[in-house]
Formats: sequence, C-alpha cells, structure tokens
Amino acid sequence: FAPWEDPQAKPLIQFQNVTKRFGGFTAIDNLSLDIFEREFFALLGPSGCGKTTMMRMLAGFETPTEGHILLSGQDIDPVPPNKRAVNMMFQSYALFPHLSVWDNIAFGLRRDNMPKTDLEARVEEMLRLTRLEQFARRKPHQISGGQRQRVALARSLAKAPKLLLLDEPLGALDKKLRQDTQFELMDIQEKTGTTFVIVTHDQEEAMTVASRVAVMDQGQLKQVATPDRIYENPNSVYVADFIGDVNIIEGRATATGDEAFQIDWAEGQAPLTATSSAGVSNGQSCHLAIRPEKVTISAERPADAINAIQGKVHDIAYLGNLSTYYVELANGTIIKAQTANTRRISRRSFTWEDPVWLSWTATAAVLLAN
Ligand code: ATP
Repeated sequence: FAPWEDPQAKPLIQFQNVTKRFGGFTAIDNLSLDIFEREFFALLGPSGCGKTTMMRMLAGFETPTEGHILLSGQDIDPVPPNKRAVNMMFQSYALFPHLSVWDNIAFGLRRDNMPKTDLEARVEEMLRLTRLEQFARRKPHQISGGQRQRVALARSLAKAPKLLLLDEPLGALDKKLRQDTQFELMDIQEKTGTTFVIVTHDQEEAMTVASRVAVMDQGQLKQVATPDRIYENPNSVYVADFIGDVNIIEGRATATGDEAFQIDWAEGQAPLTATSSAGVSNGQSCHLAIRPEKVTISAERPADAINAIQGKVHDIAYLGNLSTYYVELANGTIIKAQTANTRRISRRSFTWEDPVWLSWTATAAVLLAN
C-alpha cells in the first residue's frame, strides 16, 4: 500500500488551501497537497509556475498569504527557517572554499554545539553514506563537481532533517554524471528514509527519481501521481504534452455504451475508438492523446486494426535505437510514430513520401476533455 493510497496514513507535509501573492500577482493559487514520509516527491512545471515559491514556503523563506502549511500535523507558519526540521540544498551548493570536506559537513553540527564524539560519528557516517571518506581532508576545489555535489548533500543531511528540499540539485552536472547521480540520490534517500522534495526542469529526471510527480501550471496543480500514471493516464492535454512526446487529435466523442468512445475527427475518415478517458462526456469535443511509441506504422492496413489512418511519410528522425516517422494525414495533421530499431537496419523500412498506415489499439490512447 503506497501511503498516498492509504486513508490512514498521516502526511508529513500538508499544504492546506495555500495562496501566495506578491503584490497583486498570485504565484500560488489556493493549492492543497499532501506529501508523505519517505517520499521522493518531484515538482515539475514550466518556468514561473511557482515551484521555487513552494520550496521557499516549506523552508520558511516565504510565508503563505492565505492557508497553512503543516509539518507532522503542526502549523509551521510561525516557526523560523532554522527551527524547522527542513533543509534546502541549492543548485549553487555554496561550500565553504577554505574548509575541508570534513569541516564543511561538520559546519551545521558545530553551530548547534553538538558534543564532539557525536559530531565526529555523524560526520563519518555522512562521509560513508556519500562515499567521500577518502576526500575528507580535501578542499572543495580539490574534488570534482560530482563529489562537491555529494559534499553538499552530506552537509544538508548531517542534521537529519525530516525533509530535504532539492532545488535543481543536478543542474550543474553533465548528462552522464547527472544520470549516475540520480541513482545515487535515490539510494541515499532510501538509506536515510528522509523525505525529499525536488524541483527540476528535467522531466526525465523527475520520472526517474520520484515516487510521485506534481505537474504545476500557473500556481496550481494540474496532476499529482506516480510517474507511470502521469505518463499513461495524463488528465489533460497540458500534462500529456509536458511529460514526454504525444500526438493530439481533436474530435467529437460519442459514447458507445460499453465504456468506449467513438471519435469523429475528420470528414470522410472512419471514426477512432478509445476506451480510456479523463472527464469526457457524450457529444463533447475532445482530444485524443496517443504516444508515438504506441503507433504502429505499416505498408498495409493491418487486418484487425481498430484504429487505422492513412498518411504519407513527411520526415524521419533516426536516433540509433529508435526511429521517429513524421506522417502527414490528408488534413495536414502530422502524427509521430516511433519504432524501436531492435535489429540492425541495413535499409530503412520506409522513406519520404511513402504511403503508410498508422494504427493503434483501443486502449493505447487516452481521451481528454481539455
Ligand atoms: P523557475 O523554474 O524559472 O525557477 P518557478 O516555477 O520556480 O520558476 P517561482 O520562482 O516560484 O517559479 O515564481 C513564480 C512566480 O512568482 C513568477 O512569476 C515570479 O516572477 C513570481 N515571484 C517569485 N518571487 C517573487 C517576489 N519575491 N516578488 C514578486 N514576484 C515573485
């Protein structure tokens, strides 16, 4: 039972109808959200949607204009940042350049006057956790970017916060190191059992590390769900489009009785069929969302196809492991079909201007109201 599915589970963090205004501008708009202990929770959304404002309110650098934020059931609005069991790790993880790795990690503990033996044990534990034992005596400029990032993490976890906020923590790392560090973050999060809330621009990163993802738009939550649910069952065109690649076909839905919909989408074209829908009602205009990898491309119309439309190849993107075909329909719409290149391809299956069929099953697409 995941905690968010368990009605008995008590959230670690509760946003209760939180609104944050800066002057006349509403950055967070009557937002409610529960985050549970041990979650690795990701906030996703375009620039300016309010992700950082959410983090700053959790850390105590901003206070809600309306509503409340609870930590373990207690209203934290009156609690100053340094008294909260919350720590924040910034993208520009300012380490003290003149202090060793060891002393950087010890810094907050010294400030809290932790007894010497406890402090030493704690620093050693953090060094082991982040695999930095051999670098303990070095200064930040004597270690790599990835190692510095681990020092920052060790430092933020040293005081055993209940909640760690990570604002674009891997933004400064290159792609390969970034991926390794994602797995490391997940491992450390699991070992410490600390709740992590991460802000990232990188949707793949959010999908990799997070137990749940919140997709935000203009200070509101569009959808909060597990990565696979967000991908497979987006609740709106906005979410479908924000996470991964998607084809959208506009049409009008007719309920067929067996929980399926028939979608009329273009003059003279056979209607499409979809069984999965989010808030679409009979007779309504709708958007059919279908992921490119769920569209099959073929020379002939597959005999048993439920959904099949004709087009011609407009563009081909060869990506090594995958190829994406951009297929133009009679009405000018471009539909992307992605195929896995599992075998060595000596000659591409289709080329420009080839007439092709695109097909998919009734369950492959999601019907969206907006
Ligand atoms: P990014 O991904 O670019 O960091 P974000 O989603 O983190 O964006 P926020 O930094 O939370 O966005 O900002 C949300 C909105 O609130 C923006 O339009 C921003 O201009 C505005 N805002 C944030 N802080 C202030 C402030 N102190 N005064 C006025 N407006 C602010």
